[in-house]
Order: sequence, then structure tokens, then C-alpha cells
Amino acid sequence: MKLENLDHIGVAVTSIAEVLPFWESVVGIRLHGIEEVVEQKVRTAFLPVDDTEIELLEPTSAESPVAAFIEKRGEGLHHIAIRVDDIDAALEELKRHGVRLIDEQPRNGAGGTRIAFVHPKATHGVLLELCERPPK
Ligand code: ZN
Repeated sequence: MKLENLDHIGVAVTSIAEVLPFWESVVGIRLHGIEEVVEQKVRTAFLPVDDTEIELLEPTSAESPVAAFIEKRGEGLHHIAIRVDDIDAALEELKRHGVRLIDEQPRNGAGGTRIAFVHPKATHGVLLELCERPPK
């Protein structure tokens, strides 16, 4: 699998509006944008840091996996995402190694990305996202 970079770090929050002042005014990261990912029932806010981002995830519905996460574990670190150049090839390789996946096929993420999650049982507790960015 060709790992390109740490793409972003996902943080589950109850309210983006409530936490944005901390990240913008205190930490000094400028908001790049907010996007709703209907498929995952979340709103995401992107805070770029050099070539990576902090991704704030706010559930838009009680059925959102992020809502379930907050309910169970509280707000906080949700996942880390690594950027791959070819997500289909990366998934095939993980399957060949018998790695337990949440997503067998890529799905659509924010910003035109294609993403897939690896099960935290396979990574000793870290929810890992593979992320393929659209060509620039
Ligand atoms: Zn993510």
C-alpha cells in the first residue's frame, strides 16, 4: 500500500459552532470550510494544518455513527486518516492480509474524497480511515 501522508485527524464533537472558537481563536487555525456528508449523517469542518487537517465531525442525526460514538465514549478523538494514492488497491492489499474492514468498498467522503474505514479491532484500538483525494 502506498501511504502518501497523514491526511487528517477526525474529532467527534456535539457542536461545531461551540468548539470552533477554541480552534480558531485560541489555537489559531483558520476554518477552511464546512460540508455535510449526508451518507454518514455528519457535518464536517476542516481546519488545515500544513498538509494535514483537523476534521471536526458533528452528527446531524441521532442515527449517525458519530452520535453513537459520542453517546458511548464522549467527544474526542474519533479516527485518523491516512492518504493513499489508490484506495481500491489499498483495500485489496488489506483484504489479502486478512485485515478486518468496516468498508469493503470505498464510499464518498467530504471534499470529493473516496474513503474506507479499517476496523479498530484490526489496529489495536484506532479507527483508521483510508482516504484517496481527487486529482488536483
Ligand atoms: Zn475522516
